[in-house]
Amino acid sequence: MSKVMIIGAGGVGNVVAHKVAQLPEVFTEIVLASRTKSKCDAIAESIDRPIKTAAVDADNVPELVALLNQEKPELVINVALPYQDLTIMDACLEAGVHYMDTANYEPLDTAKFEYKWQWAYQEKFEKAGLTALLGSGFDPGATNMFTAYLAKHYFDEISELDIIDVNGGDHGYPFATNFNPEINIREVTAECRHWENGEFVTTPAMSKKAEFTCPDEVGTYNIYRMYHEELESLSKHFPTLKRAQFWMSFGDSYLKHLEVLGNVGMTGIEPIDYNGTQIVPIQFLKALLPDPSTLGPRTKGKTCIGCVVRGVKDGAEKIMYLYQVKDHQDCYQEVKSQAISYTTGVPAMIGAKMILEGHWKKPGVWNMEQLDPDRFMEDMNKYGLPWKVIELDSFNLDQ
Ligand code: NDP
Repeated sequence: MSKVMIIGAGGVGNVVAHKVAQLPEVFTEIVLASRTKSKCDAIAESIDRPIKTAAVDADNVPELVALLNQEKPELVINVALPYQDLTIMDACLEAGVHYMDTANYEPLDTAKFEYKWQWAYQEKFEKAGLTALLGSGFDPGATNMFTAYLAKHYFDEISELDIIDVNGGDHGYPFATNFNPEINIREVTAECRHWENGEFVTTPAMSKKAEFTCPDEVGTYNIYRMYHEELESLSKHFPTLKRAQFWMSFGDSYLKHLEVLGNVGMTGIEPIDYNGTQIVPIQFLKALLPDPSTLGPRTKGKTCIGCVVRGVKDGAEKIMYLYQVKDHQDCYQEVKSQAISYTTGVPAMIGAKMILEGHWKKPGVWNMEQLDPDRFMEDMNKYGLPWKVIELDSFNLDQ
């Protein structure tokens, strides 16, 4: 049906390429482009369908436009880094190509996690008759869909949302991140913001902790409240929400290392002078840490990510929990990746499928929850991320 170009050949790019290749009836031709072509070639060789590869600097709009004009894909799946979102959006507009990504734009010098830069493209995409789909990974992505699906099918009005991301996997390293270390550490060390009574409330990073027992015997974990970008779009698109919070599990070893690294300045994003060379500490740290795309064979255990929504149906209050559990080793068997990249790459493939099949092809810039969730949720079940929904008698993370 359509030719697609994937930009970015890291952990997530690998999964997207594998999953897209499994659906030749939707994705008839695949191009994988990234800064380092050898990484694209290695991924292409591991897949038994022809995938064309190319080198591209996604910070460079003319270079991107030239590649897009040469290859003429219908859609770009951007799984490079958040720093490249705007240049890739600019190039898509110039070349007349639909766009999607899995993380919102980040300026290099400030950790903001805000949609304002990408929302500002609304009119441009609308005028060009092109679709831009933002945040089609797991969180953001599946979590936005879970919220929209619960709101649509189980409630008349929703009032509270808790997104809970538990990674019960163990890779055996004292400290490693499951996706790009720079983005991960920026996110985790940022001040916490949560939505409460019509505004974002700021608290220190990692200052609120709770214990959460996952269903289906995944286990009990310490979770910490933090800011996550889907809170911004979900609180905007579900204005009845009085409170929205995001929680993530962290092990003691991860937190201890992060604290020490932070204390000595290794997580800084401002350049420092080292013997006449400008070095960004967090980028140097990234060079020392294990590459997330190599964690697959060593990571054992499960992820459990879901949304607890409180609201009202037919005058009665109720609480629903929609979640997805994924085994790291099952992902490795299927696409040679751990579950964090897998759970991001599958919703990226499904988002692309929704656009190319026409269900979500709509000029403008969209967050996931603005689009109908039903087909997306069906495809989660079909393509490797089956989910469950249960009603809870009670739910309280306040301690
Ligand atoms: P990686 O660091 O593993 O991969 C990033 C890839 O992008 C690398 O191949 C890198 O190239 C390439 N790249 C970086 N800069 C450029 C550039 N200027 N031009 C071209 N290519 C470039 O990251 P991940 O795969 O872990 O993450 C990919 C994206 O997915 C990130 O935006 C991340 O935030 C997002 N994500 C979203 C999640 C969600 O649930 N929504 C969860 C996890 C990740 P090179 O190999 O040369 O460095």
